[in-house]
Amino acid sequence: MTTYKVMETGKYDDAIFYRVDCACSSDRCGLHMELSYEKDINELSLYLYKNLSFRSYNSSRIVSAWLRIKGALKILFTGYIEVNEDLLIEGGEHIDNFIKALEEGREKMLERKKQLSK
Ligand SMILES: [Zn+2]
Repeated sequence: MTTYKVMETGKYDDAIFYRVDCACSSDRCGLHMELSYEKDINELSLYLYKNLSFRSYNSSRIVSAWLRIKGALKILFTGYIEVNEDLLIEGGEHIDNFIKALEEGREKMLERKKQLSK
């Protein structure tokens, strides 16, 4: 399945992979999605992967640099940092294609589950 901003990127017997592009069209902003059939628990799973970055929008260079330094110090002293980044699925076609990929992956993994349950 390759559609507007949603494309299949790989397929195995027990897993299917998609890339969901962000509406902003940045290569760094997309989401990787995996639907799989987990034999051990006889269930389907959905994994969502997204790269996160430490960015501050609408800040001056000095404020931005200070925020990065604060973030680096937090990682240094606490071992973790909380960051978030959005993925924008915008417009009917983009939303429909995201839903279609979820449905397609679910159907393929349900077929696999049935196949192995025989
Ligand atoms: Zn984006």
